[in-house]
Amino acid sequence: MPRSVTILGATGSIGTSTLDLIEREPDGFEVIALTAHRDVEGLAAAARRTNARIAVIGDGSLHGALTQALEGSGIEVASGADAIVEAAALGADWTMAAIVGTAGLPPVMAAIEQGRTVALANKESLVLAGTLMIGAARAAGATLLPVDSEHNAVFQCFPHEDASRVRRVILTASGGPFRSASREEMARVTPAQAVKHPNWAMGAKISVDSATLMNKGLELIEAHHLFPVGHERLAVLVHPQSVVHSMVEYIDGSVLAQLGSPDMRTPIAHTLAWPKRMHAPTEALDLARIGRLEFEAPDLERFPALRLAMAALVAGGARPGVLNAANEIAVAAFLEGRIGFLDIALIVEQVLSRYDPPAPSSIEDALAVDAEARETARAVMKLETV
Ligand code: NAD
Ligand code: MG
Repeated sequence: MPRSVTILGATGSIGTSTLDLIEREPDGFEVIALTAHRDVEGLAAAARRTNARIAVIGDGSLHGALTQALEGSGIEVASGADAIVEAAALGADWTMAAIVGTAGLPPVMAAIEQGRTVALANKESLVLAGTLMIGAARAAGATLLPVDSEHNAVFQCFPHEDASRVRRVILTASGGPFRSASREEMARVTPAQAVKHPNWAMGAKISVDSATLMNKGLELIEAHHLFPVGHERLAVLVHPQSVVHSMVEYIDGSVLAQLGSPDMRTPIAHTLAWPKRMHAPTEALDLARIGRLEFEAPDLERFPALRLAMAALVAGGARPGVLNAANEIAVAAFLEGRIGFLDIALIVEQVLSRYDPPAPSSIEDALAVDAEARETARAVMKLETV
């Protein structure tokens, strides 16, 4: 029996890697829904190749264009944010949550509520509403499998039966393209330089987050929700080769790590086949050729975004969601050339100092916090740029 799958964010970097694996085993998977924001061509091509049941475009003005692109295919067409949520609720056995940003939260919640397996790449939803999401997964009996390479590595090494055996969870970080850059050099970097990651090919937003190290901060918060260890047992280690994807240190001093070539198809394949294993067309890890693996402590002075995220993790409540929303707005402004690279963390810090709401108690609450933090970020940027 083929497994039914849905891919939320099918046209992005993670979505495309997921399709690559699924399309290599056409008898193993049956595609229910594919969704995208604006890429009509990419979505229609993927839907035709996989014979998806339904294709959903988030931008409602593109409904006609998608209908035209899928004419004669028999594939159902829908559009708008609500239609993405409805597609996520169609009950696929396995759903990839690969929409970028908190826009992914309503559909991922809909998928979780079906009580099946959700492979989670969309870290921002967990940062904004992790407690609510984990609670919903438990209530629905859903299985959440982490796709983020670090969390997938931890998942593979973690003693799920007894977390008290863990002394530390150590997330590795490549350090991004500006690992050795001075603050003066960082002040001048362009969006093109910031999205050019040394080891991974990823979407623009996460690439900028990797350059500021905000990505690692978001990942600490993500790890805190996924693995039942307190924030004091979470650590970050810079590892420029991106070969050791993360580690779990046990109370007896043993350290288990997961290694592999930096290719997201490895963690995606892990979640697709779990608890079994499947073939993934990735380059074999050749440690003799790589020769050296290096490690260093993160520099919180040069990378203040990581410091801000660590503080938000410790404070808890709505702080991670506010941090995340402000960061999304600041990163978008940086990518549009409206602010400098160093302004990203400055804006996040300003928003955190101006807006401190209570912890959200529902998804609607969390989305309201997200919206208000975005407004605050826009207001801060206006003040800073006049
Ligand atoms: P991407 O920008 O390449 O793709 C994003 C996808 O989401 C696209 O399909 C796009 O159409 C869709 N989308 C964007 N905005 C949307 C909206 N408002 N409504 C509906 N759909 C929307 O991003 P990516 O690099 O594939 O990352 C996706 C998620 O996975 C992010 O949360 C990222 O942090 C996480 N992640 C990515 C990688 C990676 O290697 N790319 C690694 C770890 C985690
Ligand atoms: Mg990661």
